[in-house]
Amino acid sequence: TKYKEGMKKTRNSFTGKINDLIARYRKVDEEFFEELEEVLISADVGVTTVMDLIEELEMEVKRQNIKDTKNMKDVISEKLVEIYYEEEEEEPETLNLQEGELSVILVVGVNGVGKTTSIGKLAYKMKEEGKKVVLAAGDTFRAGAIEQLDVWGERAGVDVIKQGAGSDPAAVIFDGIKAAKSRNADVLICDTAGRLQNKVNLMNELSKVKRVIEREIPEAPHEVLLVLDATTGQNALLQAKTFSEAVDVSGIVLTKLDGTAKGGIVLAIRNELKIPVKYVGLGEQVEDMREFDAQAFVYGLFA
Ligand code: GDP
Repeated sequence: TKYKEGMKKTRNSFTGKINDLIARYRKVDEEFFEELEEVLISADVGVTTVMDLIEELEMEVKRQNIKDTKNMKDVISEKLVEIYYEEEEEEPETLNLQEGELSVILVVGVNGVGKTTSIGKLAYKMKEEGKKVVLAAGDTFRAGAIEQLDVWGERAGVDVIKQGAGSDPAAVIFDGIKAAKSRNADVLICDTAGRLQNKVNLMNELSKVKRVIEREIPEAPHEVLLVLDATTGQNALLQAKTFSEAVDVSGIVLTKLDGTAKGGIVLAIRNELKIPVKYVGLGEQVEDMREFDAQAFVYGLFA
């Protein structure tokens, strides 16, 4: 499947190292854990997450009196899944959308992470599910952003509401809401500019956009999706921290998982930021996005 294929780099690297570790050590001891720690950190699972995990593993090994490393694969994968779900067990991983009325999704993220591509993929996915989708070209800052969104709108077969470059993003999104309502759309997906260089600007712009949305639809935005690039590793974590300070991020879209051997970043994001990863990008084509499933992900790593 696409998922397995997209995870190939991470899986090959990770499974290879774990297998090698198990073959070399045989006995579960301190050195085994030390090397395991290194393998996990090199897969970008994140230092805090790895520390938590190793601690859990050491307890589990005592509890079950595990001596042989060949029994460790199952224990490691179980604990990885547990760590992922630990915090917000009840939380739905899919999007929180309204039935029978307009839902608004705000998409944020810095340039180059795959924001436009992800909006296109999401629009396509929802359209395939029978929803009527409209896009609002709220990134009026970056050169070419509006045209690029237009291209993706065409690919996905959905309308794009836009104004000229440099216009007020809040005004574009206001137009988007009006248009989406008058066209009886189910979902409006709003692009935004991703200027991280200036945190105050970013916050001001995003809160203005949010105010406009809330004025039109009090419960909206129904989702604020932050797009992060998996290949940027720990840098993605930093971006997530900054954005969550500017706006209430409800979910992450993690792109380019196919382009990294360090897919462990998914677990780090969840464990360290407590924000669920809702979708993962697995390629450049319109259908290359999947809902994220931690269990499938972790078991896929050890497959
Ligand atoms: P934006 O500046 O954030 O809007 O980024 P774009 O949507 O323009 O994407 C930047 C580049 O990343 C493009 O070349 C995309 O084709 C590529 N890209 C986006 N998502 C993925 C993905 O999931 N996998 C891969 N391999 N490439 C991706």
